[in-house]
Amino acid sequence: MLELAIIGGGPAGLSAGLYATRGGLKDVVMFERGMPGGQITSSSEMENYPGVAEVKSGFDFMMPWQEQCFRFGLKHEMAEVVRVKKIGNHFGILLSDGKEVESKSVIIATGGSPKKSGVKGEDVFWGKGVSSCATCDGFFYKNKEVAILGGGDTAIEEAIYLAKICSKVTIIHRRNEFRASPVTVERAKQESKIEFLTPYGIDEILGDSSGVTGLQLKNLENGSEKKLDIACLFVLIGYKVNNAVLMQEDGHSLCALSEYGEALVNLKMETNISGLFVAGDLRVDASKQVVCAAADGATAALGAIEYIEHHK
Ligand SMILES: Cc1cc2nc3c(=O)[nH]c(=O)nc-3n(C[C@H](O)[C@H](O)[C@H](O)COP(=O)(O)OP(=O)(O)OC[C@H]3O[C@@H](n4cnc5c(N)ncnc54)[C@H](O)[C@@H]3O)c2cc1C
Repeated sequence: MLELAIIGGGPAGLSAGLYATRGGLKDVVMFERGMPGGQITSSSEMENYPGVAEVKSGFDFMMPWQEQCFRFGLKHEMAEVVRVKKIGNHFGILLSDGKEVESKSVIIATGGSPKKSGVKGEDVFWGKGVSSCATCDGFFYKNKEVAILGGGDTAIEEAIYLAKICSKVTIIHRRNEFRASPVTVERAKQESKIEFLTPYGIDEILGDSSGVTGLQLKNLENGSEKKLDIACLFVLIGYKVNNAVLMQEDGHSLCALSEYGEALVNLKMETNISGLFVAGDLRVDASKQVVCAAADGATAALGAIEYIEHHK
C-alpha cells in the first residue's frame, strides 16, 4: 500500500511530491494523465514567479520541477484516475485501465481550466491577445486598451484590477443585468477607465501576426454592429474545476464541495475526510496562480506527513 497518492502533476501536485518525498514519506506516487506541468505549460510567457527573473514559456518553466521531485524519490505513473474512494481507514485509487491502487493518504491536485467562449478567432489568438487571467497577463497590456467578456464577479473584479494598469477597460456582456454582486458593479461604474457595453456579443476577434487588434461586436437588442480597437480580450466567463475524481458511484462527492464544485479545505488543505487533502486550483478560494498552487501542495504534503505519523 502507498503512503501517499498524489492525483495531478501540475504545480500543486509536483510541490506536494517534492515536500512529501523530501520529508521522508516512502512509496509516494503521483498519478498524472499527461505530461507533468499542468495548465501553465500552455502559456507562452511566465514572469510572475518570485525569484525567477528570466521570462520563460510555461513549459520551460515547469520542466525542472519534475526533475527535482524525481531526485527525492517521487514516482510518476502516467495514468488517468477515475475515482478516489474510501475503503475502511485508507483510500482506493481507481485508474482508467481498471487497475486499483490503495493508499493511506491522498492529495488531490487535479486543477481546472478556464471556460472558453467559442467566439471566432479565440483559438487563433489564445495567448496572443486572448487571455483568461488578468493577474497573469494584465501587465503585458500596460497603458493599452483592453476588453473583458463576462458579467460575473470575476469579470467585474478583474476589470477594476485592470483599470489600475491599462488605459481603458471595456466590459462586454450579453445582458443588461449582471450576475456580479451589485456592490462590485457599482464600484466598477465609479471607475473612470471602465466602460460597459451591454447587451453586446462578440462576432469575431480580429488581429494580425502581431496578435489581437480589435473586436467585431453586435448589439443583441437591435442588431447594430460596432468595431472596438483593443490589444487584449480577457475571457472571464467561468472556470471549470476538475473534481470528477471525487465523484462516487452514487453521485455524491467524497468530500464537501462549494456551490461551484471546489473542495472545501481548511488552512492545512485538509478536507472533511481524514487523510484526504486538496491543493491548488481545485480548492475553494484558490488564487489560481502557480505560486499559490505550489504553496498549497507543500502545505498539503506537510499535513500528509503528520497524518501518516499519527496513524502508524
Ligand atoms: C494560459 C494560462 C496562463 C497562465 N498564466 C499564469 C501566469 O502567468 N502566472 C501564474 O502564476 N499562473 C498562471 N496561470 C494559472 C496557473 O497555471 C494555475 O493556477 C496553476 O497551474 C494551478 O495549478 P494546479 O496544480 O492546481 O492545477 P493544474 O495546473 O490544472 O494541474 C492539474 C493537473 O492534473 C492533471 N489531472 C487532472 N485530472 C486528472 C485525472 N483524473 N487523473 C490524472 N491527472 C489529472 C492535469 O492533467 C494537470 O496536469 C495560467 C493559466 C493558464 C491556463
